[in-house]
Amino acid sequence: MKITENFRDSQGVKLIPLGGLNEIGKNLTVLEYKNDILIIDCGLSFPDDEMFGIDIVIPDFSYLEKNRGKLRGMVLTHGHEDHIGAIPYLLKSVNVPIYGTKLTLGLVENKLKEHGLKAKLNTIKSGQTFKVGEIKIEAIRTTHSIADSICLAIDTPAGVIFHTGDFKIDYTPLHGKPIDFQRLAKIGEKGVLLMLADSTNAERKGYTPSESTVGTALENIFRNCTNRIIIATFSSNVHRVQRIIDTAVMFNRKVAISGRSMINVVNIAKDIGYLKIPDKTLVDINKAKNIKDSELVIITTGSQGEPMSALARMASNDHKAVQIKKGDVVILSSTPVPGNEKTVSNVVNRLFERGAEVIYSDIADIHVSGHASEEELKLIQSLIKPKYFMPVHGEYRHLRRHAMIAESLGMPKDHIFILANGEILSLKKNKVEKKKETVPCNPVLVDGLGVGDVGNIVLRDRKLLSESGLIIVVAAIDKATGAICSGPDIISRGFVYVRESEDLIESARKVAEERLYKCQKAKMKDWSSMKNAVRSDLQDYIYQQTKRNPVILPIFMEV
Ligand SMILES: [Zn+2]
Ligand SMILES: [Zn+2]
Repeated sequence: MKITENFRDSQGVKLIPLGGLNEIGKNLTVLEYKNDILIIDCGLSFPDDEMFGIDIVIPDFSYLEKNRGKLRGMVLTHGHEDHIGAIPYLLKSVNVPIYGTKLTLGLVENKLKEHGLKAKLNTIKSGQTFKVGEIKIEAIRTTHSIADSICLAIDTPAGVIFHTGDFKIDYTPLHGKPIDFQRLAKIGEKGVLLMLADSTNAERKGYTPSESTVGTALENIFRNCTNRIIIATFSSNVHRVQRIIDTAVMFNRKVAISGRSMINVVNIAKDIGYLKIPDKTLVDINKAKNIKDSELVIITTGSQGEPMSALARMASNDHKAVQIKKGDVVILSSTPVPGNEKTVSNVVNRLFERGAEVIYSDIADIHVSGHASEEELKLIQSLIKPKYFMPVHGEYRHLRRHAMIAESLGMPKDHIFILANGEILSLKKNKVEKKKETVPCNPVLVDGLGVGDVGNIVLRDRKLLSESGLIIVVAAIDKATGAICSGPDIISRGFVYVRESEDLIESARKVAEERLYKCQKAKMKDWSSMKNAVRSDLQDYIYQQTKRNPVILPIFMEV
């Protein structure tokens, strides 16, 4: 793909979001031109309450698998799970070189190791321009809640596509430099055809506060505290972890790390020089008991109340090395991601019950978001001045709100595209249009080692089972005559406690028996019709008696 002027006229570029729209999670955008495909991010999302037993959700890769011959590379904006978490699942079926900054690739490498996979990883720096196939990409420094985040300016035959990645505008980040305004202004000046921008906080007015406000709040807590301090935060927020360590050192405290992902990230960040920890500051969590309370800080995972996390285990007195005791100060340096409010609240309640003083973001400024609020979104729009705009990274309400912000700055309505996953934007020189066709885009559910083997029918069964339980009807039947040789017996799980409901179970058994006699009389030979008949009679009877709808499973054995 050579980028020459006459080329810009004739050929179309396709942009296809395979994830990240109408949801916060599983970001994946495909950029396609002739024989080249560039993938931008490859994230996962977490299941909602209706997805029983599902561990994670990943994008539909079928379009990429079908076009595997065209895949030239994948570029990553940053190392959060909703941008890198699905990479191992894609790499199991296709091979594609990956481009990202140092910390991002450190996290990816660790992930690939866990899955026993290898990939060609190319480290890029912000400020650098590199080529993937024939597509020219510039990485631009930005600020977000993880170090090493970048925006992308992608030069295509149709024009420049600018992708903000996840960002906020932090003039005083804790470490590193602020977003590269000068470069953004220059890119805007040269002309941008289409901008994709982070919509997560489009509903929030004003500006997202700087990460440095968290540092001040932490210092205030440390200054007035003589007890043990336990802080839960996102392991990926390396800058905040650094700030916690710096504050600990400032107040002569040692630091112990708890939780698998926290230990992982601390090790990776230390190795690549992104975390600086003075000698003798770190102590093994198992030896933390020997340190005086006033001289110890424990940094842990579990700020989202995840049931298996280190903090949740501490709260339920199930942690090997740390028992919460009266006087402990527990800081949740995070806000619950929508959907996690309840689990976080549970953990907070249990910590209070154990006598800890719990500090969370409702009562102190110990967390700031990593995403831009309304005024920052306006600033980016004004600097980049794209001709067309596509809000990304948000639920529908966030995308819609972001579109309204762009409109308020004078962008014509028909230049704004609120897409759904799987829809296609066609980019020609000076012209962007939505196509009628779509590509397959069904979320793929991962349960244990099974990828995509749990579909709607399985989910529906799991939902029914979880609501009203299961009744199994077992009978042995003479295939030739249809006579009942033994049974029917009724076994139930999760429906009623059998010992206290013997009458109900016995009468249900009779209902099944009667129906089987009727089948025999009618000389019914087809087992699936017999099963349906028994199921339907039992369903009616049980609903009548209990107003419940358990899953009913007849099992007939042939004798
Ligand atoms: Zn994100
Ligand atoms: Zn992010």
